[in-house]
Amino acid sequence: MPLYDYKCDGCAARFEVDHPMSAPPVRVCPECGAQQVRKILSTGGISIRNSGSAGQNVPPPCAGGGGCAGGMCGMR
Ligand SMILES: [Zn+2]
Repeated sequence: MPLYDYKCDGCAARFEVDHPMSAPPVRVCPECGAQQVRKILSTGGISIRNSGSAGQNVPPPCAGGGGCAGGMCGMR
């Protein structure tokens, strides 16, 4: 049974409802009773992180001349 995520615009509550696809969507917020419930896309199990450049964030040892201002690292 699919799980649906809903968000209430009235009280900003989020809740999950699992109901069959043939069932009508939830329209009333169970928290505040407002009829401002929106169905949002569930992100369960899907990772949208794209960390393809691991290792490129490591700076060179004397980038900016902070730790070796005297030229001890030979890069000057
Ligand atoms: Zn609400």
